[in-house]
Amino acid sequence: PRPPEPGVVAAIVAEVYAHCRADTSGELADYIPELAAAQPDSFALCLATADGRIYGTGDTTTAFTIQSISKPFTYALALADRGPEAVAQRIDVEPSGEAFNEISLDPVTERPRNPMINAGAITAASLISGHNAKERFQRILDCYSRFAGRGLTMNEAVYASESRTGYRNRAIGYMLRSFGIIDSDPDEAVDRYFRQCSVEITCHDLAIMAATLANNGVNPGTGARALTAALTEQVLSVMTTCGMYNAAGDWVSTVGMPAKSGVGGGILAVLPGQIGIAVYSPRLDPHGNSVRGVAACRELSKRLELHFLHVT
Ligand code: GLU
Repeated sequence: PRPPEPGVVAAIVAEVYAHCRADTSGELADYIPELAAAQPDSFALCLATADGRIYGTGDTTTAFTIQSISKPFTYALALADRGPEAVAQRIDVEPSGEAFNEISLDPVTERPRNPMINAGAITAASLISGHNAKERFQRILDCYSRFAGRGLTMNEAVYASESRTGYRNRAIGYMLRSFGIIDSDPDEAVDRYFRQCSVEITCHDLAIMAATLANNGVNPGTGARALTAALTEQVLSVMTTCGMYNAAGDWVSTVGMPAKSGVGGGILAVLPGQIGIAVYSPRLDPHGNSVRGVAACRELSKRLELHFLHVT
């Protein structure tokens, strides 16, 4: 199908934003004070095309932490560093049906069920190459920055809080180490995971990261390759089945795009070959997904006919 005219897309983005704006239901994440301190009514919607057009409305330059939306990107870097086979020996690609922070492995394979739950994400963080911890985290930051097309940084206060309170994630790290899924220092892997969750982005950045995934791994703004086409397909596959906490099935049926959300209030969604979408609105539903983020993606998908199974 022929993509809609730019004027039409801009109008639909503005309409969807206005349509979703009044919904102030949901709660801020409050497991650390820094997230509870977000402006609860912040709302931004941004759509970026694989050929480099950007349509945004609302608080598109407000910074927030990437949180779990970091998981597909660190998984991508682990795949690039170690190769898909070596990563698959440690991290499965099956939806878990469990809470994202469950302290569990698949009982049959004894591996984390997928890279979008914390056990898989901490394993992916352990697989990043580098001479020391500092260099390994810097490579993660450089990777995310290639996707975003600008140099991203970490929010030190969020990181300090994640680290101070992160006993459950440490428990997961030690469990992974005891099963030999992590064969390096588990404290280092968990610390890297806290750092990656604390990287600050804006809705505008997130839309470009999504558009880079839509564009087969090449950033449409800078022209730089952030990931190979084959690995982009692998990352998008896992996002399709495991990206939206335990609302993945509902999301695929009502939105129909690979996506990832985070407790910071961001959602990233991708229509391969065409479009990246980002929403920021920090009030979350009981699954941990942004209330207005889910609503805006549903509306955009409906109005622009973005569902990947939609036949015109
Ligand atoms: N730092 C959070 C955790 O691992 C991220 C949660 C999320 O965005 O799902 O507990």
